[in-house]
Amino acid sequence: MVKLTAPVTPAWVSANDRAYQNRQAGRVVTLVAPGVYQCPSSKADGTVYTQRILNVGQLQATCDCPHGQHGAAGHCWHSAAALAAEVCRVSRPRPSAEEAARKMARFARR
Ligand SMILES: [Zn+2]
Repeated sequence: MVKLTAPVTPAWVSANDRAYQNRQAGRVVTLVAPGVYQCPSSKADGTVYTQRILNVGQLQATCDCPHGQHGAAGHCWHSAAALAAEVCRVSRPRPSAEEAARKMARFARR
């Protein structure tokens, strides 16, 4: 589970909409190193941009795309997609009580 401490502004919602549309078109982020994702440009010209997750809970990430570099209003969809992927990556489902008990059994005294 990730606790978001940053406001999900209309700019983030818009960036997420664009990320969703690009995902539908097959443009998805790929984890290339811990906290680092890469994503193709929506221009389909072979350009790949790199996103670095700074703090997923605060929705902080950098991107080397023109939008990300110039600090334009709003957020680039690459960062939105990378943050969403990072949330999925770190939000593994909790094990069931049964599974947790089975794993903890190895610490029981024999
Ligand atoms: Zn970007």
